[in-house]
Amino acid sequence: MKNLPQRPVQREGEHWTRFVCISDTHSEDFVVPEGDILLHAGDLTSFGRVVELQTTMSWLCQLPHPVKIIIAGNHDFTLDMDWYESNYGGFHRKRENPLAARDLVRGDLARGANLIYLEYQSAHVAPPGHHTDNEPVAEGEEKNPPKLWKFYGSPGSPEFGGWAFNYERGTVAEELHSSIPPETEVLLTHGPPHRILDTVHNGENAGCEELVSRLRAIRPRLHVFGHIHEAHGAYIHTWNDQTDGPLDADACGARETIFVNAANQPAGRLAQEALNDGHSPNFGGYNFQPVIVDLLDTVPPEPQVPPVPSLGDDTTGTVQA
Ligand SMILES: [Zn+2]
Repeated sequence: MKNLPQRPVQREGEHWTRFVCISDTHSEDFVVPEGDILLHAGDLTSFGRVVELQTTMSWLCQLPHPVKIIIAGNHDFTLDMDWYESNYGGFHRKRENPLAARDLVRGDLARGANLIYLEYQSAHVAPPGHHTDNEPVAEGEEKNPPKLWKFYGSPGSPEFGGWAFNYERGTVAEELHSSIPPETEVLLTHGPPHRILDTVHNGENAGCEELVSRLRAIRPRLHVFGHIHEAHGAYIHTWNDQTDGPLDADACGARETIFVNAANQPAGRLAQEALNDGHSPNFGGYNFQPVIVDLLDTVPPEPQVPPVPSLGDDTTGTVQA
């Protein structure tokens, strides 16, 4: 195989969870590095056919990651069951069986592989095997409970060409995103937020403005998406309490959010750059590889900044006018 990912560095220790992010695999398969939790941000297929989904699911299910969390995308027609009934004629010559598609993502094969398919849903999951529950504790002390990561998955992307899981921008989008629970730590959406790894080939930003508003109120630790293949990449954003508005009650409220556009199908400038660098652009290959994110299970509290002594405050003994 060409363009094998380089051997990734080791996870730093027991208190870290390694997320491996992929997206827009469109029924192709490629080498994926090991990790604790595999995240797939949708477009499991190209045309939502059951046979395509079968290919993807057999690949994902045999991957070694102890937990796999996946969503659908605008190409996964048969998974958008209501939409499919009224729209399949425009995409499929013959109607496919949406129940067979659903069984592939929710049935025995998926369950046996610890694969969780989220459709506007949340899941709280502890990756087994390496966490705080396995650490030695002093006699008489309680073991720490395992880290439970809080996920939410939305297959939606803003209306474009009347595809599956498309939603209208504006109030419909606002209402849709309002159901993302504030405590979400790891968010998967198929479409990107506005102006974050969302630039299409003509320079326009195709991401969702309403999703950005919701993100400001939640501030998850990790947000993985795809959809805009040519904007593959990662970006760490630091929030600003003054300009980003108030957090929701019980919000995750991370100081920084790691954004990953994990699209693995080569497109646009990055594909051209791969060619210029002497690589044939292929799925999951050069410039479009899976993205690894290691997160500390618990973020240490922010260091307390000592109060600045006021002039003439003789209790500090440090500053005297
Ligand atoms: Zn795609």
